[in-house]
Amino acid sequence: MKKKLIVANWKMNPPTLKQAEAIIRRYRDVSNLVVCPPSIFLGKIKLNNAKLGAQNCSWVDSGSLTGEISPKMIKSFGCKYVILGHFERRSIFGEDSKTINLKLKAALKNNLNVILCVGEDKLDDSYLIKQIKDSIKDVGRDLSKVIIAYEPFWAIGSGKACSPIIAENRRVVIKGVVNSKVLYGGSVNQDNYLDYSNFDGLLVGGLSLKPEFNSII
Ligand code: PEP
Repeated sequence: MKKKLIVANWKMNPPTLKQAEAIIRRYRDVSNLVVCPPSIFLGKIKLNNAKLGAQNCSWVDSGSLTGEISPKMIKSFGCKYVILGHFERRSIFGEDSKTINLKLKAALKNNLNVILCVGEDKLDDSYLIKQIKDSIKDVGRDLSKVIIAYEPFWAIGSGKACSPIIAENRRVVIKGVVNSKVLYGGSVNQDNYLDYSNFDGLLVGGLSLKPEFNSII
């Protein structure tokens, strides 16, 4: 996937800054890579060519929202990207497309590139299309800073990646709604990543913490 966008989503890993720095030292520091560490490490991760991204942000720049991190804050820490609407945010933290839409607009206002995650439990065109439309509501025509990441729920962290034929079908459905870049995410590894070459890149969780990650960037 040389030159395609590769997004490393570390989720809530690793547990210490020392380990985070060790992962970064191992990475090939290439310009098509976006590294999304836990937000507490954002100020400590030094990159030359790769870009920094956050895994989430609030829908306002500041205010009484204990525990939240604003788009302006992550921007001031050098973030160029933010992941929004990840399945874990939706399923564990109860975020719906309305909240994600507010966050997405706040992120765009701060000139961040948004990696908007969408997915489904079973193949359902109307569910997928509605998720996208609701998430980008009132954004207008300029979606140049919105990248869609298709992540079927069953494939995230399960070791069961989506079949390339189904993934291609979902990519085409998404392209019918938005003319944005589309990434694939869900149990990508060094043996299957080329199955998704028709996508504009990959969103990678578990593998991004391992030495083998270098072979796909
Ligand atoms: C993810 O975190 O978005 C993801 C796709 O994880 P994994 O690659 O581990 O399935």
